[in-house]
Amino acid sequence: MHKKYSYFDMAPLDRSDPYDVCIVGSGPAGITLAKTLVEKGVRVLMMESGYGLFRWLVDKRFKQVLADFEVSGNANYPVENTRGMLLGGTSNFWTGRCERLHPFDFERHPYVPNGNPWPITYNELEPYYEMAEKTLRVRCGERSSDAPPRRTPFPLPPKTDISYLKNLFNKLGVVVDDSPTATPRKIPRFFRFQNEVLPAFLKAPHFTLVTGATVARLLNDTERNITGAVVNTFDGLQKIARAKKFVIAAGGIGTPRLLLLSRSAQYPEGVGNHHDRVGRGFHEHPAVNFYGQLPHQGDSRLLTNKIGRSHQFYNTFWKENLGTILPVFRQSWVLPHHNMPMTVANIPRNTVAILKRFRKATVYIGVVIEMKISDANRVGLSKTKCDLFGDPLAHLTLNYSDEDRQLLARSRELVQKWYGDLNAEDVYEAQVTFSRHHMGSCRMGDDPLTSVVDRNLRVHGTSNLYLSGSEVFVTGGAMQPVLTITALAYRLGEHLVQPK
Ligand SMILES: Cc1cc2nc3c(=O)[nH]c(=O)nc-3n(C[C@H](O)[C@H](O)[C@H](O)COP(=O)(O)OP(=O)(O)OC[C@H]3O[C@@H](n4cnc5c(N)ncnc54)[C@H](O)[C@@H]3O)c2cc1C
Repeated sequence: MHKKYSYFDMAPLDRSDPYDVCIVGSGPAGITLAKTLVEKGVRVLMMESGYGLFRWLVDKRFKQVLADFEVSGNANYPVENTRGMLLGGTSNFWTGRCERLHPFDFERHPYVPNGNPWPITYNELEPYYEMAEKTLRVRCGERSSDAPPRRTPFPLPPKTDISYLKNLFNKLGVVVDDSPTATPRKIPRFFRFQNEVLPAFLKAPHFTLVTGATVARLLNDTERNITGAVVNTFDGLQKIARAKKFVIAAGGIGTPRLLLLSRSAQYPEGVGNHHDRVGRGFHEHPAVNFYGQLPHQGDSRLLTNKIGRSHQFYNTFWKENLGTILPVFRQSWVLPHHNMPMTVANIPRNTVAILKRFRKATVYIGVVIEMKISDANRVGLSKTKCDLFGDPLAHLTLNYSDEDRQLLARSRELVQKWYGDLNAEDVYEAQVTFSRHHMGSCRMGDDPLTSVVDRNLRVHGTSNLYLSGSEVFVTGGAMQPVLTITALAYRLGEHLVQPK
């Protein structure tokens, strides 16, 4: 038996008989895929660069060198706290919001790249959305007809009552819906994949997890099949993991980086990059953020932090050839806001903001926008900086397009109108933030000239290499990605066990 879950034991990588499937990365994409494969009896090796949360917090190398990447472009994209390189991946830090995309996100619309429509439809993904929602134990209240359609109820009822927000904005003709949210079993708030999903199959004899194993590049034979993964360990060893099939689930920045690092005679520009598509089309979810004060009413005096979203205006701006938007409404009583972090310098401002809330209710309105897909926004390799093992870090180029700026401006107008209609006081705009959603850098599509993976998530031009994660999204709408990542991982799991 080669079953192993050890932080430090690399012996599973010394096996000469190949695993059925090797998965690189243990975030939502990797763990969901592993779950579905292990349940089907497939022999799976999962390799994760980091260790657990403790190591991540105390060993600065993980945050500062391993999770680091370079950034250029006018979007001033933040690097820190953008991704987690540890068991469970970035799901250690996510907030658990779980929207589906709308059916029309998968159809042709102003932001679908030329020659690269989504190769799948909402209807094809819907059964997998249902499986994903069960796994994530998504809770939510009844929703309006503006929200994405569904055939079955949400797995769990809502925990919080957002009627204050619903009533407040209903008066303005704005329909606010509950936000579907992943529900952990034991702790109150954070659904972490390594705690909620992994334990069910961790001890299966045909599953092997190796942490502290950073995949540096993929190896291939002359027939262009992927034959191995070169793995660096923190004690300076280098190993080669062998498998019949490989799935890269290293996140929307880590996955294109690994493909680009994997150069060989057969793949001189990196695996899957024969048409210079790897890394191109990266997009995120920028958001405008506002605060305003209103007289207290209903439960607004309670120390709560409730949230709702409106789908009513989702594709309103298509008529102006702009992208989709998702307004967010919050009774933001307790927390200052992520734009006013708890630093010493911010203590006076945060204290005043909190004290003011005794006098009046603070209502936050933000709008998350879809970015225009641009080939120039891409993940490449740094020319100057390397990781702990001497391999080039990722370099992200991210610029706002004219459409992005217009959509941010149109969103500001909407929010300011709503505050005006509410006669809100002290309205101020905090800085534009990013949602930390890394999408589109290895898009799916039927045409290898415009995409990196096919409709089954197999890298074009390879026979046994697949991707799992939001890097394969053609467009990201204005929705959080994890539910769609999880649904696509379930779909990939089914595909990988189909007889040829
Ligand atoms: C603060 C915050 C809040 C968020 N809130 C939400 C939300 O509410 N809803 C939502 O849908 N999304 C949210 N997200 C985004 C969400 O967390 C990510 O989209 C999601 O985790 C991506 O899953 P993944 O498995 O593709 O990648 P990741 O979770 O990033 O996992 C990738 C894993 O691969 C490993 N890895 C990378 N490279 C290598 C390598 N070379 N070798 C071995 N291992 C490697 C990494 O260490 C990591 O563990 C949030 C993100 C942040 C930071």
